[in-house]
Amino acid sequence: MKILITGGAGYIGSHTCVELLNKNNELIIVDNLSNSKYEAIKRIKQISGKEVKFYHTDILNEIEMDIIFQENNIEAVIHFAGSKAVGESCQIPLEYYKNNVTGSIKLFQMMQKHNVKKLVFSSSATVYGLNDNVPFKEEFPLSATNPYGRTKLMIEEILRDLYSSDNFWQISLLRYFNPVGAHPSGLLGEDPQGIPNNLMPFISQVAVGKLEKLRIFGNDYPTKDGTGVRDYIHVVDLAKGHLKALEKLREGHGCQPYNLGSGEGNSVLEVIQAFEEASNKKIPYEIVERRAGDIATSFADPSKANSKLEWKTKKTLLEMCADSWNWQRKNPKRY
Ligand code: NAD
Ligand code: UDP
Repeated sequence: MKILITGGAGYIGSHTCVELLNKNNELIIVDNLSNSKYEAIKRIKQISGKEVKFYHTDILNEIEMDIIFQENNIEAVIHFAGSKAVGESCQIPLEYYKNNVTGSIKLFQMMQKHNVKKLVFSSSATVYGLNDNVPFKEEFPLSATNPYGRTKLMIEEILRDLYSSDNFWQISLLRYFNPVGAHPSGLLGEDPQGIPNNLMPFISQVAVGKLEKLRIFGNDYPTKDGTGVRDYIHVVDLAKGHLKALEKLREGHGCQPYNLGSGEGNSVLEVIQAFEEASNKKIPYEIVERRAGDIATSFADPSKANSKLEWKTKKTLLEMCADSWNWQRKNPKRY
């Protein structure tokens, strides 16, 4: 299949490209490199031993996107491109609505123009909002608590409307839980700019000595040990979910949401313990105030993806930590 990947130089996109190339798909990657480096494209080629077509372009650029659709006989699109930092989205909401919502609308219009109607969209468990009724199921009511989450929810709604207007569209809304880990080669991984917001890259940077200690945001949640519980998923397992979703689009299934998570919840303290075991490093930490907007517990009911996509996570928390550590150790100065 000839597939357009938006945001293919990013964390999840780059891992998905490797898995797609391993299955002999032909890839066209579009990325403006606003949150990634060209080095990731080189490493995708290095790991897979295959060529990819790369366009250093913004999905908001209609002229260039039109040319890309004209030049390539694209069958399906996997749409990763977007901005993803919750805190930043509260500071600069208009930028987030422009990049995520307007960018997506322009992409979907371009797809429509060129009669490309198969789409896999990167949604997020954040669309379950403040729900504390775990595990989260696809049919739960949706809501958002910050501009980033609202962009995901809006794009999901736009896609449901698009499908209602034209049933030739085939759309998967993949609701990721907490992607962590890295490619086992240590060549690809999460490459955050500045101080990381997310737990795993923060712990990795403490382990490698870049940061002094982890601050645990609250230990008074109604969870097993008082710290926040999340459903961590290895990025390679997540990447494989995209291949399954693409296969399903070919069979035809309409517009469907799928939870991509393991179905298990781990606390912050459990992640620290697993990381210490994987890295043989001590992770110093202190308990601080809860982080505004955090929920106590989030984990998936992945049974729909398990049965309909025939997809299931395989990698353990220990493997996630070992691969995150391997990536951090081999790339202390990022890409
Ligand atoms: P990432 O920032 O590493 O990758 C996104 C890529 O898109 C980057 O390479 C960036 O340069 C590119 N990009 C951004 N805006 C663009 C534009 N206008 N035109 C072209 N390229 C653009 O993020 P990621 O972690 O790989 O996430 C991929 C997708 O998955 C995002 O849509 C994100 O919201 C979603 N998601 C991520 C997580 C997570 O925890 N990482 C969880 C749920 C959902
Ligand atoms: N967390 C923490 N310290 C950090 C970053 C995260 O204690 O420096 C906690 C956070 O409160 C949550 C869990 O780790 O309970 C996962 O946070 P992350 O930001 O990685 O994911 P999200 O909250 O978006 O699911």
